[in-house]
Amino acid sequence: PGQRLRKPEWLKLRMRTGPEFGDIQRLLSETSLNTVCRSAMCPNLQECWSRGTATFLLLGNVCTRSCRFCAIGTQQKPIPPDPKEPARIAGAVTAMKLNFVVLTSVNRDDLPDGGARHWTETMKAIRLSSPDAGLECLIPDFEGNDEALDMVMNERPDVLNHNIETVPRLYTNVRPEASYNQSLSILDRALTLHGLATKSGMMVGMGETFEEVVASMKDLREAGCSRLTIGQYLQPTASHFPVERYVPPEEFDAYRDEALGMGFSTVQSGPFVRSSYLAGSEE
Ligand code: SF4
Ligand code: SF4
Repeated sequence: PGQRLRKPEWLKLRMRTGPEFGDIQRLLSETSLNTVCRSAMCPNLQECWSRGTATFLLLGNVCTRSCRFCAIGTQQKPIPPDPKEPARIAGAVTAMKLNFVVLTSVNRDDLPDGGARHWTETMKAIRLSSPDAGLECLIPDFEGNDEALDMVMNERPDVLNHNIETVPRLYTNVRPEASYNQSLSILDRALTLHGLATKSGMMVGMGETFEEVVASMKDLREAGCSRLTIGQYLQPTASHFPVERYVPPEEFDAYRDEALGMGFSTVQSGPFVRSSYLAGSEE
């Protein structure tokens, strides 16, 4: 116990960031904006940013929950949402010349609307200043609050993304404050009530079996979900949920084949895949 697995060769390939992004990094630091790309030291940064895609984290960088795989810190009462954040993000989208923007946020179970209004204000601000940019919203579950969900869905993002993250058997250990069925019904609501294109994602290497992943893919298809991402789980620190194994590239290919075979229209499956990897490439 306590021994961390060695990283296999296929996970050592990528460089993190390139010097040409210096100006953008400075701009983001000056405006104290949080991109997931930078704060998660995402291995895809170079590829995504040079294609004009980035992911912004709304509502601060402290969450009211503490999922065991997540590097974001936890507080029961984080600082209130910054009313100037939507305009700052919209400004950064313009400055970075993004053509596809992914928005995501921490869970703000301390706010009555879970931060939904802040989400809509950010979407509106981006659309005003960058009307041609595509928008994907990777939303939290808003505790299943339909009013909050509808508020965001009514803004009609090009893609509504909500991750199930893992198979239901592992929820108690990995995502104790969330519910698998609730996450499925959020995706279902986005499609059936709002007609939105939906997307979801899973991390593998946490102890799930191949069959369990395939069963979850089926659940997603039943909820009408058409886009899927599957990536390797990496343990942010030694106190986080341990990596059970490094899934080999061939197995990711097998997941992709299964998913395409059951009708997903877009599937990203690979060791480095994150839920926003190559977002917008299918739009
Ligand atoms: Fe950013 Fe997502 Fe691309 Fe990573 S995969 S660089 S988080 S947009
Ligand atoms: Fe991290 Fe999201 Fe879990 Fe909060 S709800 S701890 S941001 S994964």
